[in-house]
Amino acid sequence: MVGIVQDFIPYGRRNRPGYKLDPRYITIHDTANTQAGADARAHANYVKTAPDLLAGWHFTVDDRVIYQHLPLNENGWHAGDGTDGAGNRQSIGIEICENRDGDRPGAEANAAWLTAKLLRDFGLDPDRVKQHYHWSGKNCPRVLRGRVEGWTGFLAAVRSYLTPQIATPITGTAQAAVRQAQEWARARLAHQRFIDIAPFYWRYGVLTGIRPEVLYAQSARETAFGRYGGVVLPEQNNWAGIKTANPAGDAASDHESFPTPEDGVRGHFNHIAAYVGLEPVGIPHGRYWVIKKTPWAGTVKTVEALGGKWAPDPNYGSTIVRGYLGPLLLTGHPPEAPGESGGEPGEPPSPGQPDPSIPWIIRLIQLLLEKLKELLGVS
Ligand SMILES: [Zn+2]
Repeated sequence: MVGIVQDFIPYGRRNRPGYKLDPRYITIHDTANTQAGADARAHANYVKTAPDLLAGWHFTVDDRVIYQHLPLNENGWHAGDGTDGAGNRQSIGIEICENRDGDRPGAEANAAWLTAKLLRDFGLDPDRVKQHYHWSGKNCPRVLRGRVEGWTGFLAAVRSYLTPQIATPITGTAQAAVRQAQEWARARLAHQRFIDIAPFYWRYGVLTGIRPEVLYAQSARETAFGRYGGVVLPEQNNWAGIKTANPAGDAASDHESFPTPEDGVRGHFNHIAAYVGLEPVGIPHGRYWVIKKTPWAGTVKTVEALGGKWAPDPNYGSTIVRGYLGPLLLTGHPPEAPGESGGEPGEPPSPGQPDPSIPWIIRLIQLLLEKLKELLGVS
């Protein structure tokens, strides 16, 4: 991934105290320097040359590179908890750049990658990642702390870099047939609307390269097999509990509404596309852009890695795999009814079924009309 440049503070300087460090924690900071050019390299020069500077830490990370200022067996002064504090004496300090000419999500992604690497290198659990605030009460890392779900999102990104290899890919060709999925749903007393929507999942699977049975299984979890019963109402055509761009709480109105059930399927695939890093189909919904701005956008490649990101529960993804997708894949393939052609993996719905690409075209026209009205001052 990103390169690490070792550029150590010289021996003898006040900010290279040289006490032995046996890393037990990782402390995350934000530089609080938004000036253009205040990137990792600039900080490396700063800690080496600023006269009488007492502060020193191990890494500064920007969107392109990581600079290391201290060896990992020597402590730094960065946690504000005194000469003998666990923050200063037992933790590796990482500063994330805020320079306005840098890409902040990129810097956060690199910091998450570095944090995961250090956790692995030193055999530490993710709960050993601490905010500077934890040691001294300072509002740092201020950007992560100031953003809704900033810190939990960062930790989720760290976990996604730690996700073991044995995991369930979200993308790829379908590994189940439409009729097989419908059979599985029927056996679990799915609502008829959930049975009827299945072919559209397989259609969008072909269009996007996302495994339809994965999303269909997720939808079963999110909608209780189309029976709903939670805050989202069936008429919202929201198959995945997708929220609006700026939800105020957890009411029905805080969740996205789609004009048709088919369009809701398109929304579900687009939402996942932001996670895995694929292009959306048609105009995406508002929440899509919120996901695109997260540090882990485009990095979530497995169902397991959805945990802590799609939902706060770190086991969200493994629950889908164990409780829904696994049983779906184990469902026997029912015999095909004579004359029926649809149903094989990756095969679009048979002719005669409505074209799912029409609703988003209608939606596009609606959006254009709304924009036109806005421009003309009509409301
Ligand atoms: Zn700090």
